[in-house]
Amino acid sequence: VFISFEGGDGAGKSTQMRMLRDHLITDRSVAEDLILTTREPGGTPLGEQIRDLLLHGEDVDPRAEALLYAADRAHHITTVVRPHLARGGLVLGDRYLDSSVAYQGAGRALEPSEIASLSLWAVDGLLPHRTILLDVPITTLDDRRGPVGKDRLESAGLEFHEAVRNEFLDLARDDPERYAVIDGTLPREEVHAQVLAAVSEVLNL
Ligand code: C5P
Repeated sequence: VFISFEGGDGAGKSTQMRMLRDHLITDRSVAEDLILTTREPGGTPLGEQIRDLLLHGEDVDPRAEALLYAADRAHHITTVVRPHLARGGLVLGDRYLDSSVAYQGAGRALEPSEIASLSLWAVDGLLPHRTILLDVPITTLDDRRGPVGKDRLESAGLEFHEAVRNEFLDLARDDPERYAVIDGTLPREEVHAQVLAAVSEVLNL
């Protein structure tokens, strides 16, 4: 089973992934090696190099940027995610192709449907069984992140992040079967409870 977590920077994706993983291991006796937590960009040595280029390198042309994300994802899916799924494992992904549609599509003003096609081609059609969207207003995300430690993309304007947020919400509206939208401003235990409810069906909890 493949579950992806999406949302703005600082929405709480990695915290919620960790809480879900801990819950499955501690309270549901799921074997640790059955759960793979991974992230993109990154998740493979090549991916970490691409991540470094994207987040700390020169300003990249938007189409080149979209292709680099797609290349990272293609490699990550083939070498890490599909083999784990084939073993019957659970993959928890910190971002997946919806991030590209939102960031490279809406954020960078490329055509979201073209980015969706490119992304799907890159992964040969693999969609998550469930996608958790942690939705948080832009101003709250901005307060959470604070002035330090922002990388090149995170310091982009509020307008950019607003477009990203709205695209995520549109994607979720278009595919309510796959998406669960959770209010990321709630206390994290409450968000965790809603994440559990959202994955219980696909995980047979
Ligand atoms: O998930 P994380 O916050 O580590 O993502 C790192 C950065 O990459 C973020 O600032 C996000 O804005 C950016 N990103 C992007 N397009 C993607 C995935 C991530 O612009 N497809």
